Amino acid sequence: MLRRMVRSLVAWLLAGTVLLGPGAAPAAADGNYTNCSAQNPTLHLRWSANSQTFSRPDTWAANYRTALANASSNINSTTDFSWIRVSSGAVAPWANWNDPNSPGLAGVTQSSFNNTTCRFTDQWFYFNFPHTDGDNVDQRQCTAVHEFGHGLGLNHVSGFRAMNANHTYRCHTNMIKTFQGVDSAEANVLY
Ligand SMILES: [Zn+2]
Repeated sequence: MLRRMVRSLVAWLLAGTVLLGPGAAPAAADGNYTNCSAQNPTLHLRWSANSQTFSRPDTWAANYRTALANASSNINSTTDFSWIRVSSGAVAPWANWNDPNSPGLAGVTQSSFNNTTCRFTDQWFYFNFPHTDGDNVDQRQCTAVHEFGHGLGLNHVSGFRAMNANHTYRCHTNMIKTFQGVDSAEANVLY
């Protein structure tokens, strides 16, 4: 049986104008993502288990590490899903997107999923250091909690929400660095 792994850029986080980072989603991948959501209302893209692992470089500055610890702790304490940090072998490593030409881009989540089961197989989380190096620890947590939310299967929504697409609104105009009740409720629909 052929089980094709499809890599899709499912979300990128923007401030201001729309800026596509390198490797932005091909249309076909977006189509597969939509197909998985449409197959069955109970077969949304999500992990097959409600606890998954992430990692980040130990060389990262302390406030990046703190931001990730606080963001994962918030999700773990407010939803039935857990992001567990490991030092190696994580299914969801964090890295630096490093796109100086997209200074409005703060974070990116890329997802791989099985197009038959519509279950995630890997995630790649990114800060875009050319943006986030100028942010404080709370703003980095704000970006991290949003990307972690994508990573467990949440899409963009409007309003005062951790999953609002507008980075400037979320992390600069306001400081939505934790899941709101509705963000948690939507996560718990998946898990
Ligand atoms: Zn987003």
